[in-house]
Amino acid sequence: RCRITMKTLSDLAISSGQKIIMRVDFDVPLLRSSGASERQAVIAESFRIEKQKETIDYLLDSGAAVLMIAHISAVDSFSSILPQLASLLGREIKFVKDLEGIDNFLKADQSLGLLENTRTWSGERENDSAFAQRLAQGFDVYVNNAFAVCHREHASVVAITQYLPSYAGQLIIKETQELQKAMSAPAEGKIVIMGGAKASTKAPVIKSFLPNSEAVLVGGVIANDILKAQGKEIGKSIVDDEAAALLSGIDLADPRLIIPKDFIINKEKFLDIGSESVNDFVEKIKNAKFIIWNGPMGLFEDERFMAGTKAVAQAIADSQALSVIGGGDTILAVSKLGLIHRFSFVSTGGGAMLAFLAGDRLPGLEALSYYDQ
Ligand code: ADP
Ligand code: MG
Repeated sequence: RCRITMKTLSDLAISSGQKIIMRVDFDVPLLRSSGASERQAVIAESFRIEKQKETIDYLLDSGAAVLMIAHISAVDSFSSILPQLASLLGREIKFVKDLEGIDNFLKADQSLGLLENTRTWSGERENDSAFAQRLAQGFDVYVNNAFAVCHREHASVVAITQYLPSYAGQLIIKETQELQKAMSAPAEGKIVIMGGAKASTKAPVIKSFLPNSEAVLVGGVIANDILKAQGKEIGKSIVDDEAAALLSGIDLADPRLIIPKDFIINKEKFLDIGSESVNDFVEKIKNAKFIIWNGPMGLFEDERFMAGTKAVAQAIADSQALSVIGGGDTILAVSKLGLIHRFSFVSTGGGAMLAFLAGDRLPGLEALSYYDQ
């Protein structure tokens, strides 16, 4: 695997007035007071937005005009969070509500714009060529700075690269380098901590790291899934129906696979790892040289079940080890705990990070020629 064929921004001589369309990632969690409309949406966690700033500043300061394209899942439109976006980026943003608006943006000589939620158009998820071509029309260059969507075969990520010279933004470079380091770090001293839900994204990572690390510690729903697959009693705990098939290729008796010994139980559900397991996990974290963590240890949104996640986060933050963490809920948790700046690298990718770590070829990176042929 090598990156020599991928074009980066250092390969691009930016001229004043150059028109750049850039895929960014503003898919952040929002807070909404009960009964409030979309107009009152407030950004709950801005990490992903802040991570876009470096490349946006670089392009604008070089004299380019930049139209940002992105999706948002929590609401239909970017309109409600636009003022907050502008303030986080420290820039005025021209909001481009429809495809015709792109032509006006280009004509009006504006420097920074944001197109409405790309998932407004069905062509986005269909990776539709005509839609991608319409997006590309009038621009000189395409930049992808949205690592978190590189596992998606969508028009603004993949098909658009057919119509413009395409470059990787600084965040893509940083993410791929740091995650590649995590993968190639020696097995000795490397531990992986996997929690949260959705076995389809977690099981492949466990599978790929189990033979290549000192230990894989599991918590959250994925721990319930493993216990169930081992025939253990888990009461009414939440499980993932797809888990059995996904776990089938993993040696669940591997001594490197560390399952919690005890749980915090509520109404017959395992909702957090118990204190013995916490001690066990913290001890392993203290002795590790390299730590990869994704997924809360329990239902951390409820204070009664956040002790496991908090202890794991604190132990990693306090450790001397290199640490790579990621995942939307994981970031929300460490951000609430005030620990987000205490890790060596925080990935903006949830699904994309997990797919990359599992060794998958990400379509968005493939489209930028990241991989060897
Ligand atoms: P990330 O976004 O960091 O990748 P996930 O989306 O996989 O994490 O999982 C986070 C979700 O899993 C949270 O909403 C959390 O409440 C839930 N969760 C974790 N452990 C449990 C559990 N034991 N029972 C129910 N839900 C859990
Ligand atoms: Mg999540």
